[in-house]
Amino acid sequence: MTDLIDKKPTEGYYDPEPRFGACPYCCRSHGYINVRNSPWFLCDTHMVRWCTSSGMFSDWQDENEEIWEKNVKKLEGYTIVEPIDSLDEIIPQPIDKVNISGEKR
Ligand SMILES: [Zn+2]
Repeated sequence: MTDLIDKKPTEGYYDPEPRFGACPYCCRSHGYINVRNSPWFLCDTHMVRWCTSSGMFSDWQDENEEIWEKNVKKLEGYTIVEPIDSLDEIIPQPIDKVNISGEKR
């Protein structure tokens, strides 16, 4: 029997050049969600998030308070980390060594 179920990737994508940062634990990103004009990138595997510069993307303009509220709820469960922005920095780090920064750098 053929498996017709569309298997969606759950591991996130591996960005060879993480322009917008990547998870410091696995160098992956599961994309971003907006809170108003602030895009937050996520790693769902490690439950971490990092913010890039506001105004980088424009899709937030098509969203609304309802969506942002939902996004804020989701983000509350994620720890803010300092993302890696270069593959040279891929060094798996113990969680307590990761630089925890504020929402804005
Ligand atoms: Zn990760």
